[in-house]
Amino acid sequence: MSRIAYVDGRYVPHREASVHIEDRGYQFADGVYEVCAVMNGRLLDEAPHLDRLDRSLRELRIPQPMTRPALLRVLREVVRRNRVRQGLVYMQVTRGVARRDHPFPAHARPVLVVAAKHVNFAKTAARAAAGVKVITVPDQRWARCDIKSVALLPNILAKQAAVEAGAFEAWQVDEDGYVTEGSSTNAWIVTKDGVLVTRQLGNEILPGITRAAILAIAKTSNLKVEERPFTVAEAKSAREAFVTSATSFAMPVIEIDGQAIANGAPGSIARMLFAAYWDKAKIETGVDPDLILGSTFR
Ligand code: PMP
Repeated sequence: MSRIAYVDGRYVPHREASVHIEDRGYQFADGVYEVCAVMNGRLLDEAPHLDRLDRSLRELRIPQPMTRPALLRVLREVVRRNRVRQGLVYMQVTRGVARRDHPFPAHARPVLVVAAKHVNFAKTAARAAAGVKVITVPDQRWARCDIKSVALLPNILAKQAAVEAGAFEAWQVDEDGYVTEGSSTNAWIVTKDGVLVTRQLGNEILPGITRAAILAIAKTSNLKVEERPFTVAEAKSAREAFVTSATSFAMPVIEIDGQAIANGAPGSIARMLFAAYWDKAKIETGVDPDLILGSTFR
């Protein structure tokens, strides 16, 4: 079956899907995006992702390409046409096409692109069961990391460094030695006293939708949470570490810069949060975690 993408008003075969060379996303990274997990053919955390898209657009003064009900129709249609049951949907809005010049163009119309793909979440679960490694790198990004902009050069350099080091993720570290976030995930630790720690929201990190969902689960599970910065040294001596994102859920971290976290096995709180996140997904989308994840995780 051929993949279908939505490009500026049309559903087109994926391999023919293209944008204009003077799309400002292509020339200036003048655009924003979102990634939502798809479970059971439904979008997980749909409203918070679309709220964050609206906010990113507002912050950059890019007009909305269409109303929310219209956007939802497009997202669902792309998922449907690609027959994605488990996977992800990617949406991107750029300021549009205009003769290359730095100031906002007077007459550009925002360009929406939507694509979807299958993801084998059993593999994600197997990865979570084993735990992942992270490295640390200097945070080289701009001063508005709270906006989900398509300008991701520092993030891809960080992720490439991780891949070359045999790691899953790179934690970016600010000038004071505090972890900001991963290249595509939020960063968490669990202290020796069992307190969950993740950096507070601000311009330095993306307000992760999964971060918010995990915070809510932590609260209902009566876990203690502190939203504050933590250093690399504190993370290395933590009881547990993990990362969150729409496609990695709550992914246990077993090693930072080659140093094992605690006994080097996924921590019990991270494992509990991974399972609890899927329980929430079951309620929201009807997905059956036991069917999708296989026996590896639980
Ligand atoms: N931080 C960054 C830099 C990211 O790119 C992502 C993934 N979009 C996240 C955090 C996690 O956010 P979410 O839980 O909304 O996927």
